[in-house]
Order: sequence, then C-alpha cells, then structure tokens
Amino acid sequence: MKNNPPLYNTYSQFLYNYFGEKVYKLPIKLNLTCPNRDGTLAIGGCTFCGEEGGSFENTDGTIANQLELNKARVIKRFKAKKFIAYFQNFTNTYVDFESFKANVEAALISDIVGVSISTRPDCLSEEVLDYLAEVNKTYFVTLEIGLQTANYHTLHKVNRGHGTADFVDAVLRAHRRGLRVCAHVILNLPYDDTLDTVETSKLISVLGVEEVKLHALYIVKNTVMGELYQSGKIDIISLDDYEKRVILFLQHLSADVVVQRLIGRAPEENALFCNWNTSWWKIRDAIVAKMEQSNAYQGQYYERT
Ligand code: SF4
Repeated sequence: MKNNPPLYNTYSQFLYNYFGEKVYKLPIKLNLTCPNRDGTLAIGGCTFCGEEGGSFENTDGTIANQLELNKARVIKRFKAKKFIAYFQNFTNTYVDFESFKANVEAALISDIVGVSISTRPDCLSEEVLDYLAEVNKTYFVTLEIGLQTANYHTLHKVNRGHGTADFVDAVLRAHRRGLRVCAHVILNLPYDDTLDTVETSKLISVLGVEEVKLHALYIVKNTVMGELYQSGKIDIISLDDYEKRVILFLQHLSADVVVQRLIGRAPEENALFCNWNTSWWKIRDAIVAKMEQSNAYQGQYYERT
C-alpha cells in the first residue's frame, strides 16, 4: 500500500527525528528592548508591537530560574528529557556582546540541547554570528528572524525599520556559518494579498531557510495598528481566507522547510483582534482538514530550478 506524503513538515516530528526523542522549547523572557522602539531606528516600533514584544507565556526571574520552572512544568506534563532554551521576546541580540554571550551561557544548563534566539535581521553583528557558530558546534542553534512578509512596501507601512533585503542578508550571513534560520511570518498583514503570500513562501524556499513560523496578526490595544483597526482604516481578512492563505503558502513552500506553527497562540487580554476569537488548535485542525479535502500538501507547487 502506498503511503501518503505528510501534509506538512511539522517541527515536533523534525525534532523527534533529529534528537531521537521529544524535545520541547522553554521560553525565556528578558528585560530588553528593540532598536525600533528605543529611538535608534524609530520610537514605538512596528505598528502592531505591544508592550510584551512578542512574549506573553513566560515568567520573570533569572535565565536559569525561568528555565528550571518551565522545565519542571514540561517534565510533569510530557515526561520530556531534552529542551531548547528559547530567547523569545523583543530583540535578543540588541545588547552589548558580552551581555549577549552571558545570557546564552546562562541558558546552557543541564538537559538543554539547543538554543533558539529571536531577533531582527538588522541586529546580527559578525561578532554575534561568529560566537553562535561556536555554540552551534555543541548545541543546536536556531536564529528566529522576523521577516513578516516579503513585500517591502508592507514592511515600510508597518514601520518594521528594515526591508526584505535585510532579511536576505541576515540569512546569507547566518548560513555562511552553518546556523539554522527560522523565518517569522504574519500571513494576514492588512496591506498584503495572496501574491505576497506566494512570494514570501518562495523567498523562504529559495534562500534555503530551514524553518518557518506562521502567525495571524494580533492587534493590541494602544498600538498604531490598534487605532487603525478601531477607526476602520484597515481590514482583516476572514478566518476562511487566512486558512486558505496558509494552505497556499505551504503549497509553494519547499518540502524541506520545517513548519513550527500554522497559527500563533496569543492572549485575548489587551487584544482588539486575536485569532478570530477561535482557539489556535481549532484553526490548525481546520487547515489540516481543508488540506486533506483538497489533496493539498507542502511543496505541491514548489519547483527547485
Ligand atoms: S521588531 Fe519586534 S520587538 Fe521590535 S518593534 Fe517590531 S515587533 Fe516589536
């Protein structure tokens, strides 16, 4: 009997295959900022950025304390033995080099097998990349870089403070040192259409980016995006359209790219718009059901030339 190919290349399965057992990410929240918020590039940041800077599900405390606390929770629930330390909020490489190095080293406690670092494409110095290449000899290092969309007009409109070329440059420089990259993408930014969905997917594929993490736009109170939303100046596509965009994205994505998420988790507190008031896992299940019904799968339309 012929086995059907997997609908998409899931992160949990990838980690299982790579490490030979289940591996869980443990979030770390640091008291940081971002050059797009502190006035270096802009004040206030991306128009959708809230006070948490992309982190809401973790605790305060030292890096080791946060990891131990989260580790105990995951061990109790999933009996896991290996973990990835995940520097989640704001721009984790936007600190002086010695502090960055100290943060990474503080995370290398027992049972940690990898380090994942969220940052912007324009905040990756040669020094930081060289250091991470050294860490990568012993630990599984991933750089989670915010792209959001390949459409540089949209990047400008949401005040990202970087363009598409900055992302390409960051990926090339990380890859020259053998570092893995995960691209963070928002598939329903108000100014994007399905052409942008396809272009973003193709860009990630041709660059050989190893992982992708998809999110829906989360609109927070007291942000520029929030004001635009409340005054009716921007529209959010329907949930059905979001699900179709995810499928279109996956169809144009190289089958080699590992997919961390199809939709993000976000808190409803402080939100003006959050995942169409629907649980993330219901949206994920609906996408999978639609893919099964239409025989869609990751890489269906991707052609390596
Ligand atoms: S790059 Fe990230 S942390 Fe910085 S302003 Fe944009 S969303 Fe916020």
